[in-house]
Amino acid sequence: MADDSIAVVDLDRCQPDRCSYECKNYCPPNRTGKECITLRGEEADEGQPDQVHISEEICLGETCGICVEKCPFDAIEIINLPEELQDDPAHRYGENAFSLYGLPAPQEGQVTGILGPNGIGKTTAVRILAGELEPNLGRHEESPGWDEVLEAYRGTELQDYIADVRDGDVTIARKPQYVDQIPNSFDGNTRELLEQTDERGVLDELVERLSIGPVMEQSIDDLSGGELQRVAIAATLARDTDFYFLDEITPYLDIGQRVTAARLIRELAEEENRSMLVIEHDLAILDLLADTLHVAYGEPGAYGVITAPKSVRNGINEYLSGYLDNENMRIRPDPIEFEEHAPRTASHADALIEYPDLTKSYGDGEFTLEVEGGTIRENEVLGVVGPNGIGKSTFAKLLTGNLESDEGDADLDLDISYKPQYVTIDQHMRVDAFLSSITDQFGSSYWNTEIAQPLQLERIMEQNLSDLSGGERQRVAIAACLSDSADLYLLDEPSAHLDVEQRVQATKAIRRYAEQQDATVMVIDHDIYMMDLLADRLMVFDGEPAVHGRAGQPQPMRDGMNEFLANLEVTFRRDERTSRPRINKPESQLDKQQKQNGEYYYA
Ligand code: ADP
Ligand code: ADP
Ligand code: SF4
Repeated sequence: MADDSIAVVDLDRCQPDRCSYECKNYCPPNRTGKECITLRGEEADEGQPDQVHISEEICLGETCGICVEKCPFDAIEIINLPEELQDDPAHRYGENAFSLYGLPAPQEGQVTGILGPNGIGKTTAVRILAGELEPNLGRHEESPGWDEVLEAYRGTELQDYIADVRDGDVTIARKPQYVDQIPNSFDGNTRELLEQTDERGVLDELVERLSIGPVMEQSIDDLSGGELQRVAIAATLARDTDFYFLDEITPYLDIGQRVTAARLIRELAEEENRSMLVIEHDLAILDLLADTLHVAYGEPGAYGVITAPKSVRNGINEYLSGYLDNENMRIRPDPIEFEEHAPRTASHADALIEYPDLTKSYGDGEFTLEVEGGTIRENEVLGVVGPNGIGKSTFAKLLTGNLESDEGDADLDLDISYKPQYVTIDQHMRVDAFLSSITDQFGSSYWNTEIAQPLQLERIMEQNLSDLSGGERQRVAIAACLSDSADLYLLDEPSAHLDVEQRVQATKAIRRYAEQQDATVMVIDHDIYMMDLLADRLMVFDGEPAVHGRAGQPQPMRDGMNEFLANLEVTFRRDERTSRPRINKPESQLDKQQKQNGEYYYA
């Protein structure tokens, strides 16, 4: 086959006991007696028949693709690599396995970002940089060894770094992507966890700035996702190492907390001259956080390419435009665009819900929420913003009737479909069985086009809910919420653990669903870009987290964004080339001017 093609067999999917080697029986070279698709000559699992191997030499390439069509389990991918990709991979896990091209280049005193989808090799790259995985330069039969790897990177930005890794001189601290799993591996309270990692003697400052104080004596098991995220960030930054790797810092954090985490990471780079590498899907925060950016693209699960570093501004702009300039590479057919000026004119549709002034207190008034009466319109996407602990979920529960108000009566005779912030679907049940139990529409062409495709569910339908990654579980939960028939759809933090591409797809799916089904959707989220693309109007919560919250009426986007960002004292300017919103440096000329004019977002 052409030199630039690869064959990838996903061994988790290849189940020869349930097909009858149709790939092998139909492969044209096989039918003429060649050994293109063969058996591996080893048992997959105990008692399981032998899985297949594809010869990349003999295979005819993507234009044939017969085996890809024949395999009932989507286990095979035959891919023509882009012509531009001429170098050898940095690493390939084996024959017919994932390959990674390019590596990120961490720099002392700098924050290096990686922007790209999940499954594209970011963790693989970090394992190489941490010295845990010796890259094989694509030669999986005979490992070349670190000296040859160093030779391959001579003259590049990575040369010195790789020399240090070879000599065992790089120490690394790492924050995992899924903080929800930390309680499985740590018994004890927050203080115990943090004291173990405080190699730099900075615990008090980190605890204060990340507002961890109130949960210091609490068991790790009892922390919320947002608390776990902040504890994990503090535990990582407290370590004394050369290289820090943080895999997503924003899930479950509100914007104020996101900005604080970003500042702490920047300070560690600048003041202590450390190398920071960050994967982040909240573009407004990534923009604020990173000095340079590598874009990652490819075919998740099959191959990934990490580009040479770009300036953060160019990297994000190119990513959004769908075209990488230096690489001469289209990564998406359509650009992602933001409206610069007057946001969508708010609809004047009929009211779906009119609710009166409401109040709700917990316990002996430890927390009190006051809601100003308002209207939710039919067929709108209403965004809900505000800090954590301010009463957003409490309001949602008042609407769903799961909670009774102290004063005022929402008295809603409405069916509400609710996706909670922390997605807990993890039964031993297959995704397809779970979703078909929710809707009769499951599997219809409408459902497939509007829900399954944009949420990329096809490839995980046969998996068990309990085996899904955080991002996969989120997509199933969004699908489940939208598939239910209801008067109001309420999604709490749908962006958590989705990569940028998935956020955009989910945004489109939610908007189209609202438009085509005349559905009314309320979305609580902290990703400003997602909110901008998604919402018709905004409802702003403010007050003092965990003490008292106040919810204003839904209002047009411009007014809502101004009120919300004024509470946070954060202003956005527009990128000159793409109109994309960018956070201003505090106290910069523009920041001061915009605050004076009261224009925080659509300036
Ligand atoms: P990301 O961090 O971008 O989500 P990863 O680096 O974790 O991506 O994984 C990229 C691909 O490499 C995945 O398809 C994964 O299945 C595959 N992979 C990871 N580790 C191994 C391994 N030890 N052997 C074979 N394939 C692997
Ligand atoms: P948000 O959704 O904005 O993060 P919540 O509505 O979940 O905020 O919570 C607001 C405040 O109320 C928090 O301080 C939270 O700890 C408290 N709270 C939430 N539910 C309960 C409850 N059932 N009992 C006591 N306090 C609660
Ligand atoms: Fe055989 Fe390659 Fe065609 Fe698959 S794509 S059927 S391996 S020639």
